[in-house]
Amino acid sequence: MSARDDAADVVLVQLAGLVADGGLKLVDLTHTLSPDFPTIVMPPEFGQSAPFRMERISCYDGDGPAWYWNNISFGEHTGTHFDAPIHWYTGKDLPLNTVDTLPTRDMIAPANVIDCSRQSAADADFLLGVEDILAWEREHGLIAPRSWVLLRTDWSKKTGRDYANLLDDGAHTPGPDADVIRWLVTERDIIGFGTETIGTDAGQAGHFSPPYPAHHFLHGAGRYGLQCLANLDQLPPKGAVVIAAPLKIRHGSGSPLRVLALIAA
Ligand code: MN
Repeated sequence: MSARDDAADVVLVQLAGLVADGGLKLVDLTHTLSPDFPTIVMPPEFGQSAPFRMERISCYDGDGPAWYWNNISFGEHTGTHFDAPIHWYTGKDLPLNTVDTLPTRDMIAPANVIDCSRQSAADADFLLGVEDILAWEREHGLIAPRSWVLLRTDWSKKTGRDYANLLDDGAHTPGPDADVIRWLVTERDIIGFGTETIGTDAGQAGHFSPPYPAHHFLHGAGRYGLQCLANLDQLPPKGAVVIAAPLKIRHGSGSPLRVLALIAA
């Protein structure tokens, strides 16, 4: 056994010990999947994503006297969910671009949490820009390559209509501008971008250039999206490690998933 193997063994034992004794805390970044959790609403000329549905098979009754279980169905992009590169046309020809083929190594990565909750409370159409990231980096240091950038807006605390905030002219929710997403991919080599809102893009991003820039640039570069995250207010600006393993759906473009963050207690 090499010294490197020994070191890895020690780290694993320490990791298990710290999780067991509370030295490491697990923060659940996931909303509960239920039929009433808002789904994205597309313009009427496009296809629509189905909400989560649950249908009882049996509950200790004639259909199954000793067991309880359900059939479930949902759109791939329902609830707290993961976007794979194939979700957008810019990523459609990339290798390993579906949830069943993406590298498992990418399912664990550090997170940088950019707190824009104040700006988002003042303006539902708040847009994160490069200047906001540079200001964050002056305080917390550079965003490391292959780490997540998570946009904290406290939007996950809203419920019902306020969450989707769908008005006559479309959704009004905060998100990144086009420049910052391109910049985070090219200048910081991020692994992905996560939000508390229904999309990685702002509610009005269909009018941006290019339309839906987060989807356009992230997936075109083989990077990922996380949406409908919760509890970002429990994470430090830097230092959390995110575990995000989507369901292994053959040729899937995304999936609901349990997103966990490990932080020092
Ligand atoms: Mn999605």
